[in-house]
This record gives sequence, structure tokens and C-alpha cells, in this order.
Amino acid sequence: MSNSKMVCYTKLSPNCNKPRNHKIDMITIHCMAGNLSVETCGAVFAPTSRQASSNYGIGSDGRVGLYVDEVNRSWCTSSAANDHRAVTIEVANTVAAHPWPVSDKAFVALIDLCEDICRRNDIKQLLWRGDKNLFGDVSKQNMSAHRWFAAKACPGDHLYNLHAHIANAVNQRLSGCSVQPAPVVPVTAAEKTIWDFLKAKGLNNYAVAGIMGNLQAESGLAANNLQNTYEKKLGVTDAQYTTNVDNGSYTNFVRDSAGYGLAQWTYWNRKEALLKYAQSQKKSIGDLNMQLEFLWQELQSYTKVMSVLKSAKSIREASDSVLTGYERPADQSEAVQIKRTSYGQGYYNKFVLNDVEVSEPAQPVVSFPYTVRVTALTLNIRKGPGTNYAITSSIRDKGVYTITEEANGAGATKWGKLKSGAGWISLDFCTKR
Ligand SMILES: [Zn+2]
Repeated sequence: MSNSKMVCYTKLSPNCNKPRNHKIDMITIHCMAGNLSVETCGAVFAPTSRQASSNYGIGSDGRVGLYVDEVNRSWCTSSAANDHRAVTIEVANTVAAHPWPVSDKAFVALIDLCEDICRRNDIKQLLWRGDKNLFGDVSKQNMSAHRWFAAKACPGDHLYNLHAHIANAVNQRLSGCSVQPAPVVPVTAAEKTIWDFLKAKGLNNYAVAGIMGNLQAESGLAANNLQNTYEKKLGVTDAQYTTNVDNGSYTNFVRDSAGYGLAQWTYWNRKEALLKYAQSQKKSIGDLNMQLEFLWQELQSYTKVMSVLKSAKSIREASDSVLTGYERPADQSEAVQIKRTSYGQGYYNKFVLNDVEVSEPAQPVVSFPYTVRVTALTLNIRKGPGTNYAITSSIRDKGVYTITEEANGAGATKWGKLKSGAGWISLDFCTKR
């Protein structure tokens, strides 16, 4: 048994059993409940009076500390049975409050460390069902949570809710497969539509995540969401309310003071504007794309919010600006700010970290050679795969050509190498036969 090569600080804790009595076949992720450096965490676990430890710790800077050799059992999860077989990891929290968020660097290091632990201990894949009753049945689930064994929030909702995501990210690497499997935490159609819409408006990832975290808090990203208290008061579901507004049988949409839609538009003049816009576009009042266009138009008049969004340097900055400048709910407390930021962080993890961290983008396995028909009237042939390579000639016959190799490069989704040796063409202007 070995320790991770990611370790850059070691402070072995006396609080452990030597050696562990079970082979390593599980991982348990914890949160430090504070923004501790790996050194501080080591100091916390150093005195015998503490009666606690973990195998590893990860600071918000992404550095990894070792406190109990993997060969030994840490005292971490309030369960001897768990800790004898699990490698335990404490992760620092950027904010010491629910939902116990962690930094991007710590999160990326956590996935790296989990991958490393699996490889060295021959764990083929990480399995997560969120089911305490499956503890010990490692063929079904080999991750566990401290909250199952003690009255604790650990590892905090932020990390707990990302367990499936973590397992998926680690498994993609362990499989060594260039085909990206469907994520365990799926990106929903609404999430993708909203993310892509806002990105297409030129906002950076922090700004988009910050907006989405707020929309999540307002409506759960459901464009037909009617404020829950009004579902009861009016005796209708989200869908019924939407239908009744659309077909004109409900006429009090503007003045009923019920929050509705992605951003939970509530005040009469905003609901009136939303209704007029939907009617002008001949779209349902619950139409997601219509609401996004409306939201974007509305945002343009919130100049302060827009200026923050345009140069946002963190999710928190973007999220707070949308919260306090645009959504302006009654409760804008720090707790609400943190909660919304953590929702935004979730989307950032999903859309950004996944992209960055997964070794290969989603690509079906391609076998060569294959033939394509050129669809462009004129298609340049270049010396190499990219618009940065010189044009050597062009194809003008919309003919069929044989591709022997593909490559990524500037100016096209994919470049294809012509069998003739003439050069490379953009496959965006070809259809595969
Ligand atoms: Zn814990």
C-alpha cells in the first residue's frame, strides 16, 4: 500500500489504528467545516486529545496533505467499519456555513486524488447511490458519507450533491475511454438551453453561473413555475396556470402578485411586459426561450448589474449582483448569497470543470478512411488542420472525398485530411456518407 504522490505536506496524526483491518475498497469525502490550510488541518489532528484524523486533507488552494498513511485506519467517519476500508479525505470549505461550498481548485484536486486512490488500490470505478443501506455492498456503492453515521451535515450539501458527479468524472478517467459516457448527473435540456443562451450573449462563465444560480433559487429553472403559495391559493398546478393564461381563461395574470417563470416575475408591470412580449412572439407564457429573451432585454436596463456581469471575476460577485440588483427578494442575507452562489458553483462545475477536466471531449469512435460529400460551393484546402494554415487550393465540385485522418484546429469543429494528400478541409462543410 502506498500514499498519493499528490501529497505536498505530511503531518502524521497519532489518532489512528495501525494497520487498518480491511483492504481499501471505499472512499469517504468529508468537509473541514472551515477554510483550513493543509497545515492547519494537520495541526488540528496532531494532539491525541483530538481523537480524530483523516487520511488526506485538501486545502482551498488545491494542495493535498497526508495525516494518516493509507495503510492505517483514520478516525474520521464515526464508524470503525467504514474507516477500516475507506480512504478518508477532508476538503476545506470556502465558507463555513451551509451548504459548505469548496473552491474550484479543491474540487479539481479532489477528483484527481480520488482517481489516484482508485488506481493504486485497484478500485475499478467509484459507485454512488446516496443510499446508506448499501454501505458495505461495494459492488453497488463504494462511496459513503459521514452524515450516515453521525448527526452531522458532513460532507455538506454542496459536496454531498456532487458525489455522483465526482464518481462520474473519476470513472471517465479510469475507463481511459475517449468516448464520454452520459454524465451520472445529467445536464438537463433546460440547463443547457439557459447556459448556451447566456454564453452566446458574450457573458463569461462566472456571470452565466451567477445568473443561473439565481434562477435556480427562484424557479428551479422551470419556466412554467408558479410561486408555490399561489399554487395552493389559486388551486392550480404550474401547468394548469400556464395553460389558463395562454388560452385566456385566466385574466388576472398581470395583477395577481404571483411569482411566475424563470425569474419569478411578480410585480404587475414586469408581468405585464412579460405577457405582452409572449403574445408578440406568439409563444406560451411558459416558453423557456421566450423568457430568456425577455430576461435578457430586461437585464439591459439594469446597467449596474450588467456592468458587474460583463466583467465578473467570480461566481459570488456575479451572483450577488443579480441577487441584490435584479432579483431583489425580501431576503438578501449572507446565507441567501452563499446559497445562490453554491447553486451557481454547481452549474460552473457541470459546464466548465467537466469541459476542462475530462481528458477527451465527447467523440464517437471514428474509423478511417471514410468518405464525405462537400456541401459548400467552394471549400478551401489547407496545408494543415486549421485556418491558420495556408490555403493550397479549393474544392468547387461538391464532390465526394475520402478522409484518412481527423484533427482539431482553429476555424472548424473538426478538420479532415484528404486521402489525395492535397491537404486538410473543414468538415463543417461536409456530410459524412
Ligand atoms: Zn466528516
